[in-house]
Amino acid sequence: MQITYLGTGAAEGVPALFCNCAYCRGVKARRGREIRSRAQVLLDGELSIDFPPDAFLHAAYFGVDLSAVKYLLVTHSHMDHFSAHELILRGYKYAHGMTSKDLRIYANEEIGEVFAESTRREMKPVVAEGIHMHTVGAFEELSFGDWRVYTLPARHTSREPLVFLLEKGGKRVLHLSDTGALSGECYSFLKEIGGAPYDLITFDCTFLFGETAEGARHMGLDENARTFEKLASLGLGDGHTLRVLTHFSHNSAPSLEAISRAEREFGAIGAYDGLTLEI
Ligand SMILES: [Zn+2]
Ligand SMILES: [Zn+2]
Ligand SMILES: [Zn+2]
Repeated sequence: MQITYLGTGAAEGVPALFCNCAYCRGVKARRGREIRSRAQVLLDGELSIDFPPDAFLHAAYFGVDLSAVKYLLVTHSHMDHFSAHELILRGYKYAHGMTSKDLRIYANEEIGEVFAESTRREMKPVVAEGIHMHTVGAFEELSFGDWRVYTLPARHTSREPLVFLLEKGGKRVLHLSDTGALSGECYSFLKEIGGAPYDLITFDCTFLFGETAEGARHMGLDENARTFEKLASLGLGDGHTLRVLTHFSHNSAPSLEAISRAEREFGAIGAYDGLTLEI
C-alpha cells in the first residue's frame, strides 16, 4: 500500500495564512519542508482522506491525479478538511479525461449539509451525477473496492467527527487526525475487530511537545505515546508499526530540528508535505 501525506499542517497552514509570529516569519524566509499545507492523505492513489483547500496545490505541486480518487473519506467539516466548493470543478469544461468518473464520499451527515450549501450555486448537473454521498456514523464497517474501513468517533467537534481504520490487501492503517485521546468505546471496538498489529498509525500531533490537556480535541507527543501504548497492550501495535506524526501547528513551531527530536524520542516519522511511504 502506498500512502502519501499531501498536506501536514493544521487549519491555518504553516506559515499560517495571516500570521506574523516569529516562527511563521522564519518559515517564510527558509521555506522548504517547513511549509505545510492543509490535511490530505492519499492511499494507493484512489482513496483520499479529506479534501482540503490545498487540494489544487497538491495536484499541481506533487503531480497527483486527483480525478483517480474514487473514494473520499472525510473526517469532519472543518474548513481545512473539507473544501466542498471545489468539487464543482470535477467534470464539465473544468476537467477532461478524468480517470474515474465517479467519486464516492463517505462522511457524516454534517458533511452532506456542507456539500449541499457550498455547491448549491455553481454545481452543474453533469458534475453532480458523478458524486455520490454516503452518510456514515461511528462504529460502522464499510466495504468498497478492495477496501474495508471501520469508522470511529473522534474527540474533536460536537457533530460526529470520525477517524478510520483502513484495510486493504492484508495491510492495516489507523488514521487518528483530528482527534484528542480515544474513548474507551473506541478501544473496545478496535479490540473486538482484533487482527494483526497495525502496519501504520497516523497521529494528530498538533501540540507536538506541548502538553495534551484533559479532554483536548487534538494530541501532542505525550498523548500519541499513551495512545500507542494502549493499542500495543491490545496487540494492535508493535515494533513493526510505523508511527507517523502530522497536523502540525505554527503554535508548536515544528522546525526541522523539533521534528527530528520528536522522531528520535517517539520512534516516529514526522510527516512533511509529499512524504510517500510504502507498507
Ligand atoms: Zn484540522
Ligand atoms: Zn505563526
Ligand atoms: Zn478540525
